[in-house]
Amino acid sequence: MNVEEILDYTSFTIDREPHIIVDQTVCAACTDRACTTACPAGCYNWSRSDERLSFVYDACLECGTCYIVCENKAFIRWRYPRGGFGVSYRMT
Ligand code: SF4
Repeated sequence: MNVEEILDYTSFTIDREPHIIVDQTVCAACTDRACTTACPAGCYNWSRSDERLSFVYDACLECGTCYIVCENKAFIRWRYPRGGFGVSYRMT
């Protein structure tokens, strides 16, 4: 089963309160931006025209990859969603 197939069975209950918040000042100074290539859900995108990192947490898979790969620890907040919110996996 590949990632796309897994995502077909995955649902999200989106919290209005983000469970991950990045520090845009740190991200603007970052030269690597590993999050933009490492996140399996594509939550991070760097806009060259705006010189700004966009982050959408709605489809976050809660894998922790971004927390690991960020060399600058650019997180104002990184935690799992509150109870009852976030990703629900169904593997069958
Ligand atoms: Fe992407 Fe995983 Fe970070 Fe969520 S926890 S934003 S899916 S890398």
